[in-house]
Amino acid sequence: MKKHNFSAGPCILPESVLQKASEAIVNFNNDNLSLIEISHRSKPFVDVMENARSLALELLGLENKGYKALFLHGGASTQFLMTAYNLLNKKAAYLNTGTWSDKAIKEAKLFGEIVEVASSKDKNFNYIPKGYKIPTDVDYFHCTSNNTIFGTQIKNFPEFNGVNVCDMSSDIFSRQLDFSKFDLIYAGAQKNMGPAGTTLVIIKEEILGKVNRAIPSMLDYKVHIDKDSMFNTPAVFPIYVSMLTLEWLKELGGIPFIEKVNNQKATLLYNEIDRNPLFKGYAAKEDRSHMNATFNLVDHSLTETFDTMWKEAQINGLNGHRSVGGYRASMYNALPLFSVQALVDVMQELERKA
Ligand SMILES: *Cc1c(COP(=O)(O)O)cnc(C)c1O
Repeated sequence: MKKHNFSAGPCILPESVLQKASEAIVNFNNDNLSLIEISHRSKPFVDVMENARSLALELLGLENKGYKALFLHGGASTQFLMTAYNLLNKKAAYLNTGTWSDKAIKEAKLFGEIVEVASSKDKNFNYIPKGYKIPTDVDYFHCTSNNTIFGTQIKNFPEFNGVNVCDMSSDIFSRQLDFSKFDLIYAGAQKNMGPAGTTLVIIKEEILGKVNRAIPSMLDYKVHIDKDSMFNTPAVFPIYVSMLTLEWLKELGGIPFIEKVNNQKATLLYNEIDRNPLFKGYAAKEDRSHMNATFNLVDHSLTETFDTMWKEAQINGLNGHRSVGGYRASMYNALPLFSVQALVDVMQELERKA
């Protein structure tokens, strides 16, 4: 039986997706060739790319609203600089909610003035700042919807009447939002969609063409849009697997369906963290992420016992990030409810033993 995989990224994928993906490696489309040895310009792969791009827009409710979906290289980390390269003339506003926002700010500073509208660094990013003001004279506002490392998630996005950019790497397709409030969304595939190697970018075309600098082709959104996300050889396998995951999600009932499951999983685990006297949560309650739950043992002398127990229960990937410590349970879309139950069972067993 497969392990209960709470890995923060690369993440768990649906078993049916892994099965189909492995078949495509050997024999794609019954054509007696592998997916990864055919031309990316052949019709079978162009169909994959187009299907993946349109499924992404469809699931987010962004079809026919002026958006384009791209599958690019370089991870979400390349988007930190690409967003600024393409959109930042003078000044941009950033909300700092953790390591990834921090890195995005660092890259953007190479291109202009950055206003950090608020930061939760004072408490090692265990909450989401609220009540801050975004200057009106900025080229865009950037935030991170879900902080993978610290386990916080923005529940109410600020109303900003300009260009809104969001790093949704670790919670895209996990909950219903009005995605049309955003002009640019990016997400590395490996958190909730596919293997590492491709990054989904959803972009409203009208925001482009407003910076004065020349942009190298590979970093220019317009180039990728004009070439239908095929300017250079795309990451064929990660894009194919992402397409399969998006098909899987659509068949289940899309984001409305998976959001319910994600809420059930998060409720089950957070209830146990709050109930069980041996554990305490890390993130502020109102900002708790439904994707990455961060928590600690109250008594650290139980660490070895607990670690042995969850490993014996076939649980994988529970160690917290080095900057937080403790534990992090990542409950991405493909993680079944019974895996969360398995973790809760171990937590209760520890309580009985201790
Ligand atoms: C993992 C992660 C990144 C970095 O993604 P890469 O694809 O490894 O560059 C950026 N932002 C968030 C929110 C992440 O979780």
